[in-house]
Amino acid sequence: MGKTYIFGHKNPDTDSITSSLVMADFERKLGNAEAKACRLGNVNKETEYVLNYLKIEAPELIENVEDGANVILVDHNSPSESIDNLNNVNILKVVDHHKLALETAYPLFYRAEPVGCTETVMYKLYKENGFTIDKTIASLMLSAIISDTLLLKSPTTTEDDKKAVEELSKISGINAESYGLEMLKAGTDLSSFSIDEILHLDAKKIDFKNVKAIVNQVNTADISDVMKMKKDLEDRMNEIIAEENLDLFMLLITDIVNSNSQVIALGKSASLVEKSYGVKLENNTALLKGVVSRKKQVVPIMTENA
Ligand code: MN
Ligand code: MN
Repeated sequence: MGKTYIFGHKNPDTDSITSSLVMADFERKLGNAEAKACRLGNVNKETEYVLNYLKIEAPELIENVEDGANVILVDHNSPSESIDNLNNVNILKVVDHHKLALETAYPLFYRAEPVGCTETVMYKLYKENGFTIDKTIASLMLSAIISDTLLLKSPTTTEDDKKAVEELSKISGINAESYGLEMLKAGTDLSSFSIDEILHLDAKKIDFKNVKAIVNQVNTADISDVMKMKKDLEDRMNEIIAEENLDLFMLLITDIVNSNSQVIALGKSASLVEKSYGVKLENNTALLKGVVSRKKQVVPIMTENA
């Protein structure tokens, strides 16, 4: 079959990295010996914790693949999050849990489910094919599900994710709660990042109807740690608002232990946050109780109220 490149989205998270590794194992089990796990960007601190813990090498960093190459996409299908020449390669398979954004001129294996994590779909694929999930594969899958669902507390969590975590904990011998909290905390270490880097870590440009916004999310185990930088964050946020002509910049500081988010909202449409969540911004900030998911608890609510 020739070489097959497997990769997740740009700016990879734990799901993108582990899913490429797991998919490479899955392909080898199917007889595709030349399937190769790759990544489209640097490994973040949370994923670094996972790979160190499991003593596994990160997938190979690639920027592009040659035209005509065979590829498998995991944890994404949107061309904007993929390699630049996606139109000129041969997509063999997609395994994902995001909305459909891909169009091809040829048929392909496409498996996406509305579950909390790509690895939950991979877990099902192993089961369906009667493949054994070894300890390492179980640990990788488990780490990603914990990451994407914030320890099964995000509203994106489904029964399938819970079931997978239960069995994967048994196979791997890993206590999901304690390991998961350490792993998530490792991902919240902001000490080596500049203010500008923090504001770009997980920033997405989103239009809430006519409101042009950036919503950036930063995970933390202690909101007050991040709020110490509030003045500097706000100064830079205001600059970005001017540079990009934004109506709103929302910085969500998400407490992964208690499942709340402190929001800092700036820009002429900041009051949309007050309207959407029934809160009052004081000094540009408010606590949004129970809000942890941008996909489920920010985009639809803000769009509806805009
Ligand atoms: Mn992802
Ligand atoms: Mn994912």
